[in-house]
Amino acid sequence: MDFSGKVAVVTGGANGIGRAVALGFARGGAKVVVVDRDAEAGAALAAEIGRGRAIFCAADVTRAADVQGYVQAALDAFGAIDCFHNNAGIEGRIAPTAEYDEAVFDAVMAVNVKGVFLGLRHVLPVMIRQGRGAVVNTASIAGLVGTAGMPAYVASKHAVIGLTKVAAGEVGPLGIRVNAVCPGPIATRMVQDIARQVSPNNPESVEERYAAAIPLRRYGTPEEVANVVLFLCSDLASNVTGAQYVVDGGRTSA
Ligand code: NAD
Repeated sequence: MDFSGKVAVVTGGANGIGRAVALGFARGGAKVVVVDRDAEAGAALAAEIGRGRAIFCAADVTRAADVQGYVQAALDAFGAIDCFHNNAGIEGRIAPTAEYDEAVFDAVMAVNVKGVFLGLRHVLPVMIRQGRGAVVNTASIAGLVGTAGMPAYVASKHAVIGLTKVAAGEVGPLGIRVNAVCPGPIATRMVQDIARQVSPNNPESVEERYAAAIPLRRYGTPEEVANVVLFLCSDLASNVTGAQYVVDGGRTSA
């Protein structure tokens, strides 16, 4: 996909799905702004993409000042924001609702809901001024169905889909598209940590059990999610907005 002349901002861009998206944008010729609280991995990725083609901006997406900071850094470096992958997220703890820790609930909602809201709050005005732009929020299949033991994560990802629908309706008339991607289990740190929480002594057995419930019988790769995010940001998706694109190997169809 051709992103030459475009500027892309990716939150949670230092690792996992966001990293694959940042590399995909760079391959397509976009200038890339990698946003993350992991400064070491973020700076390394920007260096890998290359000077003049990418910058790293350290930010905690839960803090409005940091969000305004990455928006300004993108404008200062490259003059526009055409594509925005609003992706940073955390999984929280695995525990039933009746036992769930309140502080962990707040932390998950802060990153996954407030972080996505703040991204929209500060990037959409730029896109409205430009009269163009495409946003992809990372939800999850946990935004579509419930999963026992993940009350905060499931609630947060349902909220991301709600934010996506509202923003799509608001900015659609201005030519700006807002969609959500809903990955199933994807081979990143996040699913490894979930498996370790469920079975500290035998996380491999958890991953085998999860994979067996997927029609394609395997976890997806970050690149497979990135392909859909890049499509949704591209002109090929010019009539797609307010949508939820599932990338789950068939998990929610089974
Ligand atoms: P990951 O942990 O590999 O990457 C997440 C990135 O977000 C990390 O680089 C981390 O430093 C960054 N981050 C976390 N909190 C942040 C904050 N407050 N401010 C700035 N950066 C922050 O995980 P991933 O699997 O690549 O997850 C990316 C997104 O995909 C998340 O929203 C996650 O919920 C979603 N998702 C993942 C899966 C999966 O199976 N891996 C499935 C569905 C949805």
